[in-house]
Amino acid sequence: MHASSQQSPVNALFDRKLIEAPLDALRRIWGYPDFRGKQADVIRHILAGNDALVLFPTGKGKSLCFQLPGMCLPGVTVVVSPLVALMRDQVEELKALGVEAECLWSQQSEEESRAVRSKLRAGKLKLIYVTPERVVLPGFADLFGNVPISLIAIDECHCVSSWGHNFRKDYLGLGKLKELYPGVPRIALTATADPHTRADIIRQLQLDDAAVFIDSFDRPNITYRIAERDNARSQLLRFLQGHHGSSGIVYCLSRRKVEETAEWLSKQGIKARAYHAGMDPGVKADNQDAFRMEEDLCLVATVAFGMGINKPNVRYVAHLDLPSSLEGYYQETGRAGRDGLPSEAFMVYGMQDIVQRQRMIDEGDATDEIKRIERAKLSALLGVCETAGCRRKAILAHFGETAPTRCGNCDTCNNPVETWDGSDASIKALAAVYRTSERFGAAHVIDVLLGKVTERTQKFGHDELAVFGVGKELTVHAWQSVFRQLLALGFIRVAHDEYGALKLEPSAHGVFKKEVSVVLRRDTIDAVRKRERGKPVASAARTRMSIEDEKLFQALRAERLAISKEMGVAPYVVFPDTTLIAFATIRPRTEKEMLAISGVGATKYARYGEKFTDIIAAA
Ligand code: ADP
Ligand code: ZN
Repeated sequence: MHASSQQSPVNALFDRKLIEAPLDALRRIWGYPDFRGKQADVIRHILAGNDALVLFPTGKGKSLCFQLPGMCLPGVTVVVSPLVALMRDQVEELKALGVEAECLWSQQSEEESRAVRSKLRAGKLKLIYVTPERVVLPGFADLFGNVPISLIAIDECHCVSSWGHNFRKDYLGLGKLKELYPGVPRIALTATADPHTRADIIRQLQLDDAAVFIDSFDRPNITYRIAERDNARSQLLRFLQGHHGSSGIVYCLSRRKVEETAEWLSKQGIKARAYHAGMDPGVKADNQDAFRMEEDLCLVATVAFGMGINKPNVRYVAHLDLPSSLEGYYQETGRAGRDGLPSEAFMVYGMQDIVQRQRMIDEGDATDEIKRIERAKLSALLGVCETAGCRRKAILAHFGETAPTRCGNCDTCNNPVETWDGSDASIKALAAVYRTSERFGAAHVIDVLLGKVTERTQKFGHDELAVFGVGKELTVHAWQSVFRQLLALGFIRVAHDEYGALKLEPSAHGVFKKEVSVVLRRDTIDAVRKRERGKPVASAARTRMSIEDEKLFQALRAERLAISKEMGVAPYVVFPDTTLIAFATIRPRTEKEMLAISGVGATKYARYGEKFTDIIAAA
C-alpha cells in the first residue's frame, strides 16, 4: 500500500523514484491533490537524507512533513511526541488512512505493548510514536530487530526550550539522538516562531546542520477581534451566539474561573465543559474526549489545554484574560480553523489584566534577564491590543513578516477605529501620575482627573492639586482607554512591587515638552459594541451552500457520526468538514469522482466511500 514496500537498503534513500513518490503517496493515501506551502520542499529535503527544522504555524500541515516520508522510506520512522493524547490521536488518523502506525507508552497493557513490539520487529510498521524519555533509553534500538530506523521526527520540539512555554525536562535528553543514531535524518517541528526559542532548539537538539523551513505565519481564515472588557460574561455570551452549533475553546487564567465560567455557560443553555490541570483525572480525560467527539461543545480551559488538540474544526477561540505573550496568544488562537474554514479569535481585556500579568512576571522566579524579555513580550501583545490599525498586520510584524496595510478580516479593518489627537489628554494624564507622586494605580489617578471627592483623594490631599478635576471633558471609560494606550505606547509602566502604581517612563518627557504628539484610538462604548458584533462566521463557511446542499450536508454529517461511533474514532477522523462540504456541493457519485475530492484516499473510499455516494445519489 505504501510507496516503497520492497525491502530496500538505506542508500535507496537517494533513489530518484523515492523522491518522486511523495506526490503520488499524498494523492493515494491522503487523497489531497497537492502539497501545501513548503511541505514539498521539506519532504524532498528529508528524503535526501538531511536534517530539518520546520517552523509552520498551527494548521499548515506539519505532521505530513514526517508522516509522508515515513511512508516512502524503507524502514520505520520514530516520532517523538510530548503527549500520549497527541500520539494516540495521530495514530488513529493514520490508521484511518490505512497507514501502519502504532504508539508505545508506559500505561499501555502488557498485551498491547507486546503486540506493537512484535509488529515493529516484523517490519510491519511504518511509524512508531514514542515519548521522549523512552527513545533515549538504553536498549530502545533493540526493539527494532533488523528493521532500520530511517527517520526520527521530534514533534512540538519547542518543549526542549526552557525559554518558551511547555518546557519538558525529558526533551533535553533528545540532544543525544544525534550520537545515538548517527546518520539517521532528524526532523524537528514546532509552531513557535520566537527567535530565542528557535536558537535554543537548534542548540539543544544539535541541529546546527539542519535546514530551517519557515512558512508564513499568517492564518488568513481566522478573524481577530479584541474588545475592552466591560462585562466579560455578557460579551462572551454575545460572541457565542454567533457560533451556535460549533465547537470552540474559551481560555481563562485561573482554574476557578474556568469552572465558574463553564458552569455559568451551562446555565445559559450552552453546552460547555471545563478543563484544567487540577481536575480529577477521570473527569478531565472525559471532557477532553467529549471535545474530540462532539461537534458543538464549548470547552472552557486554562492553557493546560492546548498541545495535542488535533481537532480541525475548532471554530472559535476566546480569551477572557490576557495571555502571557503574543506568541502564546497566537498559538492559542491558532488552534481555531486548522481545516482552513472561517474561524474566529476573540479576546476581552482591561487595565486589570495588564497589572495582573506584570505582577505575575515580577513575582515569578525567573532571572532578571528573562523577566526583562517577558515584559517586552507583554508590551508587544499590548501593542496589538491597542492598535488602531490592522491587527493581523501588527501580529505578523511581530513575527518579522510584512503584511498589507489592511487584511479585511479583523475587527479594526471591518470597523475602522477613529483616532484623535490625544496629546493634551496625555499631558494631563501623565501630569496627574506625576503630581500624585507615582504611587497610585489608574483608578485613583482617574478619580483625581475627574475631580471626584473620595476618601483617598481627601486623605492624600489630592483634591488640592492643580490637576484635580482638569479632565472632566472625558468619561471614566475614555480615561481608562487613554491610560491603557499610554501603557502600550510605553510612556508609563506599572510597578507591581508597589501595588500596581503607575510610573512615568523617560519617554514621557517628550510628551510633556510637546515634542511628540500622541495619536490615540477612540474607544467609545458604541464603537466597541460594533466591533464586537461583526459578522458571525460560524455558518459563513456553509453560506455558499444552497438550502438543498445544506440538507445533504446534514445527512452526510449524520452518516459520519454513525461511522465514527461504530469505529470508535472522532468524526473528523472519518472525513473532515471540508470533505463533507465538497460532497454536498460537488455531489460525486462514482469511485473516480469520489477519489477526486480532497480528503478521500484509497483506504477511506474502500472502507466507507459507498455509504456516502449512496446518500448523495438518494438526495
Ligand atoms: P499542524 O501540525 O501544522 O498544526 P496538521 O498536520 O494537523 O497541522 O494539519 C492540519 C490539517 O491540514 C490536517 O487536517 C491535515 O490533514 C490537513 N493537511 C495537511 N496537508 C495538507 C495538504 N497538502 N492538503 C490538504 N490538507 C492538508
Ligand atoms: Zn486587519
